[in-house]
Amino acid sequence: MPKAKDTEPQRYHPISHGPEIFSRRPPVLTSAEMQWREEVVAFLQKRQSDISPELSAPSSLAVIKERPATYKVGNETSSEAADSQPIKTEILRERLTEEILVPLRIINEILHVQFGSPNLGNQKDLIDELVYILLTRRSKNKDAEKHLIAIKSKYPAWIDVACAPPEELKAVIMGGGLETHKVKFIQDSLQFIQKQFGRIDEANFVDMSDWQLDQFLKQLPGVGKKTAACILMNVRGTDTFVADTHSIRVLDRLGIFRKELGLTWRQEEHKKAQEELSLLVPPHIRGNLHRNLVALGQEICKSIPECERCELKKFCTYYRTKAQAAHAEEKKSLAIDMFCGAGGFSLGLSRAGFKIVAAIDNNPDAIRTYRLNHPEIPDEAIIEDEIQSDARRVKLKQLRNLLKGQELDLLVGGPPCQGYSMMGNRVPHKYENGDKSFGSDYKFTEDKRNHLFKAMLRVARELKPRYVVIENVPGLGSASIKKEKTYANHIAESLERLGYQVKVCLLEAVNFYIPQNRHRFFIFGTRQGEPIPNLEKFKQDIQEGQMTTLKHALYDLPRLSVSDGRWVAAHSNGIGRNIEWDQQYLERFQIRGNTHILFNHVSRFNNEDDVRLYSELKEGETYQELVSRIGMTKQFFKNYEVKNFHDKYYRLQWEGQSKTIVSHLHKDGNSFVHPDPNRQIRSLSVREAARIQSFPDDYIFCGSRGAQFIQIGNAVPPVMAQAIGEVLMEAIRAQENGIGDE
Ligand code: SF4
Repeated sequence: MPKAKDTEPQRYHPISHGPEIFSRRPPVLTSAEMQWREEVVAFLQKRQSDISPELSAPSSLAVIKERPATYKVGNETSSEAADSQPIKTEILRERLTEEILVPLRIINEILHVQFGSPNLGNQKDLIDELVYILLTRRSKNKDAEKHLIAIKSKYPAWIDVACAPPEELKAVIMGGGLETHKVKFIQDSLQFIQKQFGRIDEANFVDMSDWQLDQFLKQLPGVGKKTAACILMNVRGTDTFVADTHSIRVLDRLGIFRKELGLTWRQEEHKKAQEELSLLVPPHIRGNLHRNLVALGQEICKSIPECERCELKKFCTYYRTKAQAAHAEEKKSLAIDMFCGAGGFSLGLSRAGFKIVAAIDNNPDAIRTYRLNHPEIPDEAIIEDEIQSDARRVKLKQLRNLLKGQELDLLVGGPPCQGYSMMGNRVPHKYENGDKSFGSDYKFTEDKRNHLFKAMLRVARELKPRYVVIENVPGLGSASIKKEKTYANHIAESLERLGYQVKVCLLEAVNFYIPQNRHRFFIFGTRQGEPIPNLEKFKQDIQEGQMTTLKHALYDLPRLSVSDGRWVAAHSNGIGRNIEWDQQYLERFQIRGNTHILFNHVSRFNNEDDVRLYSELKEGETYQELVSRIGMTKQFFKNYEVKNFHDKYYRLQWEGQSKTIVSHLHKDGNSFVHPDPNRQIRSLSVREAARIQSFPDDYIFCGSRGAQFIQIGNAVPPVMAQAIGEVLMEAIRAQENGIGDE
């Protein structure tokens, strides 16, 4: 058994994922939320001396606020951050927004989709609700509901209940537990009301304000703050959070309310939790959140939680801590993923049995996506860092620390490919990925991105992994250095000089049953003495009739129009499912994921002219073909010269495969018009692009919609990555079993 100190959960701070899970922009707060935030700031500042000294240490907070671009292992702090002296109130506001408001909004939304804010048996009538709540003490809601019905059937009026012989009333509610206490509280409360008003009726309270009612209820025997809050919430719909056993337990495990802010409660501290949570939970979500947390607590997050069934697990401190502890103990072949992006390569390798010890990328949105979707990998192993063409800047010490003296089995990476891309004669689109430095005067060899593979070679030289895999666009095999040799040859020769046997191959996604015409160049390096992976396995071309089509990949997704969809939505619950189609792709590769929630199924805005044009396109037809077919007969055609825009528009084929999903999708989706024969006249949604790239539906993409398209377009399809991982794993196991090449 590990010591208690070791098992202390490292709180998972959604701040790692920026202000919003889906956008790094600061969230827009309603006036009620702003007021809530000021109240909480005042509350925290008032009790500041009682809580962790960290709160009064601006430098410590600044580390969180201004997370250094370079992640530091251990407890080092950024000197830049330590120097800054932010205003405490401002920081508190920011932290409350980022660490409490935003995560709770998302959690509330996920739970609302899952449970729909269920009725927990609560009553609309105030007296009914009072008695019902008293009956729920230590009892299941169903028992309390049953006993309330039994009481109301036996006694014609509440005054009869108040005056009934206690033993008789006890017999009516027998079976729920604590019957003697319940009878006493019910009768005392009803008698108190009778004494005050001369009758027991909801009408007594109609003219009372919420505050007056709250004060009155708290005078009743057995009614404390929590019960009063519950009655107010259910009968009057007030914005009150009820801190019951379930909600405290779930919130505690989620780790939203952090210890260093003095915001954690022991189970027995109900009163304190009720008092504080009724302030700390933002007002407009209190009722919904309470009901859904109770539903989760009753069904899944029980005293022994069933985390694998939980839709919140990626957001949960408890789950992440456990997953990371288990990951640390795993004895598996080790891999490092450079230029990891959103994590498609890592996902496939993990499924193939590798343990990812480090992943590096310079894109903050991609890093947020990676961290969220790989809860088993600690944050310090997912490194946000500018990997420069100057390979000396690769943080080898950090990688060695993460390897802890173990041998690296596999180094993979897909250095950014804009420079090698065949698109646009290798002239990157201006402003691609926000980079404004390239235009028509683009010089290939001066583009630093075309030399990023050197960083991988340096890591290979220093860490000597058993296998190296470099992925890139086919242009890597044709783009040349000073017209002497291709970049692919250059990389291959460099690897050979480092002691690797090198094989290169062009892999096609369709041959992995991915519904996409995506060709990618792979350089496989095998350290001398290691078994050569059997790349022949990739040579099997699957027949056209066996290929996965867009119909297989997309048919079950909710239909959308232009600018439609929700970031968190419900999955179709099996209606209209086609088993044969499912088996071809969605089930075969677990694309639907382990989830009832559909993330990122949001379509972009398409202007009216584009939509009219989309509606004219037949499946598989380009703009030029459309114009040849019907002539420039429509007003909107005039906007687009055929000679300049011959393939600018393209409608995908329902019974065919997509064009390569590219990061360019973040600019427009004109080449990716939805192929649905029932006409969803729009370009692909983020989730559809992710499905075509073989990401499972529970893989959540962070950042703006544009950032999500970029991450998806740049990714190695996880299904392809898994197949590559399996071939490498086979070679590694062959050697372990003593049957490898010498
Ligand atoms: S992941 Fe587990 S501990 Fe966390 S909320 Fe879900 S069930 Fe509870």
